[in-house]
Amino acid sequence: MTIVYIGLGSNIGDRVGNIQRALAILKGKKPFSLLRVSSLYRTAPVGYEAQEWFANAVAEGETSLAPSALLELLQSIEKEMGRDTPFKWGPRNIDLDLLLYGNRIIHEANLTVPHPLADQRRFVMEPLAELAPEGMHPTTGTTFREILKQLGTNQFVERMENPS
Ligand code: AMP
Repeated sequence: MTIVYIGLGSNIGDRVGNIQRALAILKGKKPFSLLRVSSLYRTAPVGYEAQEWFANAVAEGETSLAPSALLELLQSIEKEMGRDTPFKWGPRNIDLDLLLYGNRIIHEANLTVPHPLADQRRFVMEPLAELAPEGMHPTTGTTFREILKQLGTNQFVERMENPS
């Protein structure tokens, strides 16, 4: 069994509802156990900025699935939810990213772990550091708390107090 971290994001429709639905579907999948979920965060879009704010969260799970099978599972949930995004970094009703798979470093044709942009994005590091502040980035050996501190506050990320 391996501890994994999954990033969730949505900026179309009922963003919070979309994330909760993806988590509910993920919870029912085997062999996968959903262990903990971070708070929900309201975040500014990064990359392509002329779009709506996002809701983001990070989930911690445990699985015996191989990394590629786990990615397929995440993609099947996106499909089940009618994932629709017009272009890279554009708006999407649901986005599921495999952030970390234990401390493995993976470079496959369609899968890079740790997720390559995770440590540059506050909307990932804030919820990840909430769950695992002393967790260590497998490539850089830096803790998530330290990465978050170095990112500063120029990317807007705010914890939602009453998300539902
Ligand atoms: P997006 O849905 O915009 O996050 O991008 C999905 C694409 O990124 C798919 O083609 C995946 O194969 C690829 N990809 C590479 N590494 C990852 C990862 N760690 N998590 C999710 N998708 C990944």
